[in-house]
Amino acid sequence: MAKLTPMMEQYMAIKEQNQDCILFYRLGDFYEMFFDDALTASRELEITLTGKNCGMEERAPMCGVPFHAVDSYLNKLVEKGYKVAICEQVEDPKQTKGIVKREVIRIVTPGTNISQQSLEDEKNNYLMCIFCSDDSFGLSVVDVTTGDFRTTSMDELHKVVDEIFKFAPAEIICNDAFMISGVDIEFIKDKLGVSVSNIDHYYFDEEQGEAAIKSQFHVGNLNGLGLSDHPMGKIATGALLLYLHETQKNALNHLMSVSPYETSEYMIIDSSSRRNLELCETLRDKKKKGSLLGVLDKTKTAMGARLLRSMIEQPLIDRVKIEERYDALTSLTKQAIAREEIREYLNPVYDLERLMTKVSYQTINPRDMIALKVSLQWLPPIKTILEECGDSLLSGLREDLDTLEDVAGLLEDAILEEPPIAVKEGGIIKDGFSEQIDQLKRAKTDGKQWLMQLEERERRATGIKTLKVKFNKVFGYYLDVTNSYKDKVPEHYIRKQTLTNSERYTTEELNKLADTILGAEDRLCALEYETFASIRETLAGEMERIKKTAGVIAYLDVLCSLACVAEQNGYVRPKLNTKGLIDIKEGRHPVVEQMMSNDMFISNDTYLDSKRHRVSIITGPNMAGKSTYMRQSALIVLMAQIGSFVPAQKANIGIVDRIFTRVGASDDLASGQSTFMVEMSEVANILRNATKDSLLILDEIGRGTSTYDGLSIAWAVVEYISNPKLLGAKTLFATHYHELTELEGKIGSVNNYCIAVKEQGDNIVFLRKIVKGGADKSYGIQVAKLAGVPDMVIQRAKEIVSELSDSDIVSQAQKIQVSSEPQQLSLFANDSEPMMEHPFMAEIRKKDLSSMTPLEALNYLYILQNRLREEE
Ligand code: ATP
Repeated sequence: MAKLTPMMEQYMAIKEQNQDCILFYRLGDFYEMFFDDALTASRELEITLTGKNCGMEERAPMCGVPFHAVDSYLNKLVEKGYKVAICEQVEDPKQTKGIVKREVIRIVTPGTNISQQSLEDEKNNYLMCIFCSDDSFGLSVVDVTTGDFRTTSMDELHKVVDEIFKFAPAEIICNDAFMISGVDIEFIKDKLGVSVSNIDHYYFDEEQGEAAIKSQFHVGNLNGLGLSDHPMGKIATGALLLYLHETQKNALNHLMSVSPYETSEYMIIDSSSRRNLELCETLRDKKKKGSLLGVLDKTKTAMGARLLRSMIEQPLIDRVKIEERYDALTSLTKQAIAREEIREYLNPVYDLERLMTKVSYQTINPRDMIALKVSLQWLPPIKTILEECGDSLLSGLREDLDTLEDVAGLLEDAILEEPPIAVKEGGIIKDGFSEQIDQLKRAKTDGKQWLMQLEERERRATGIKTLKVKFNKVFGYYLDVTNSYKDKVPEHYIRKQTLTNSERYTTEELNKLADTILGAEDRLCALEYETFASIRETLAGEMERIKKTAGVIAYLDVLCSLACVAEQNGYVRPKLNTKGLIDIKEGRHPVVEQMMSNDMFISNDTYLDSKRHRVSIITGPNMAGKSTYMRQSALIVLMAQIGSFVPAQKANIGIVDRIFTRVGASDDLASGQSTFMVEMSEVANILRNATKDSLLILDEIGRGTSTYDGLSIAWAVVEYISNPKLLGAKTLFATHYHELTELEGKIGSVNNYCIAVKEQGDNIVFLRKIVKGGADKSYGIQVAKLAGVPDMVIQRAKEIVSELSDSDIVSQAQKIQVSSEPQQLSLFANDSEPMMEHPFMAEIRKKDLSSMTPLEALNYLYILQNRLREEE
């Protein structure tokens, strides 16, 4: 039987241990893939499939990617959800006989990809681990590119789903029980594009996990980490660490601790509300521009940008912490010059968190070190300016800001200003940093002198005026003699190569000199690399200090950005209350107002409380601005709770525990749900999970079904929400069912508002102002006209609506008793007549336009228009 070649045997043994990965097997300058991996990779990467003789009868399918361009191929596979195992040569091939030893040095998965090409500076790249047991859940989430590591425990599945959408991880790993917990994995995959996989149960072994946590964070017991209150979170964290150790092998020094948190520390925003409110990206094209983050983000550093995003994703509910942020913003708005100076100093600060990850993974290069040095140099002036700010948050940040002069000093002394990216080719270390390196450098430069002297001596001795000492990588140093001087070449010259126009020689003296010079160069490169590696070690030793400073810089950047936006956009500091009052004077939509020029946005008040103003029913024509108004109210509350100032003249905000929105819906065919089903699922979620401290934004509930069913559902929902014994949540409820305005007066806490419009003849003018009272018309037909629906359709719609209004259901709605079974409502009194064609149509159809001049055609159009006007 045919036998595998030794190399293929080695490949097979490594592949055996990494069956769930595509194995990138290093062969010279390429990573090669074989067999099924080659078939998959050639298809996914669109690269040529070849074959390799592997000792068997048939050639092994093979394809490869060059090692210097591996990142782009790797990212493509990882983005498609594959795991890739990188298998490197771990011995110097020159020093080994036979097969070079190879090992998998790292497994790259979507949640552990550290390639700069695939990462977005302003976004975290989270890996999440979920452990489920008996309806309890532990969750642990880490960004290996920054070291951000958190864990929590929960007792309800929907809370887990909320956390998944909050972090939007790139990869989720979980136990089998989570897969069958009722979670809609396909929905999560579809909405977040996340890879989800269940991993073996041994990862969730409690004892093993605890040991992994203790060794990772260098602690003797788990109390110090605060994990004792999170037994489920602890198991998830242990599993996550075991998974990381297995995939990343050992480069995890930058994961310095895990922070346990309670979901109740933050405002809860469910996944659809997150999307509807367009917090960090727009609903339609998933862009940051047009979202709340797009308006608030004026951060200067990638660390600040990531922190701001996470603050928007998880608004606070602790009044003291929020007020602390307000105080800092007050300081920074009052001291605008100091703030702008800080922002200027932050501008050149690189991503310290990701640079330190490179230290940990030993992938940092000399240029990164210069970037680190440049960043650190701005810390002392930033600290000095912070002395001017007296509030407690900024003072605390100043105290925590380690200016790291020693680290900056080391880099300044050691690394040349413009070093190469390569770490093993020298040219990294400054003169004066190491005596040994300086000596070798001297040998290198002196060597050049020696060569010049030798060249001069040989020219004189031989009389060959054009003789030159040259160098190439194959032959090293040689003496170049053109053919015209061939006969002058002395006996002791040793021929190395003959070319068409010249001959290349060497001499014993040149050989010796070359050995000294080249030896010095090799030793210099090796010594420079050693020195570089030891500086890298020093940086690794300062990991904690540098990471703490990175955190301070990120927070400072966010506060400066919020203060700057507040000043530029005319935001005010809100007041906070715990009485459940939301009183916004002249509020504006933070995003829509930015899209309008010249203060065109019309501001509006919002007033909700826990007593007589719990529910506002908002009616008004289409396009009047109902959705904008409701979203603006929710966004102002949310901004207030992230610690930002708000777009209003005045705002008093009662801290809310959750914001729920039900705004428009589209089919979710991927998960087999129709528009109405999606709408009702969202309503169900809100009614089950909202509390009296929640803020609800409900836009057009019941629109996806028949008028009769829809109105009944909407009516019942308002009754339920407004009843403090059932829910009693503060709610803005927009509707085109004007019948719902009947609820004012019937339920004490329900109030009607409408958005004013002015009728001008057949047209309407949108005033965008919210006023007390209910609208009695939708002006849908006028809006349809504005949108360009053909006149004939508009005319016919007007006829139908006037017939229908005779059988208005309002009169029937007036008879409904609150909380009683809704009565039968009959909307359509009689069938509408078939549509008639306007007599113009037949006339136009007959007209021969090709025989008319343009002027005749224009005249004809003029006549038609006049006749139409007469008819109206
Ligand atoms: P529909 O009932 O058809 O859904 P709507 O009443 O919810 O309409 P919106 O979608 O909120 O209306 O607003 C329509 C447009 O009006 C917005 O796109 C915005 O450009 C503009 N608009 C809304 N509110 C204001 C405002 N306060 N000031 C200026 N323009 C506004």
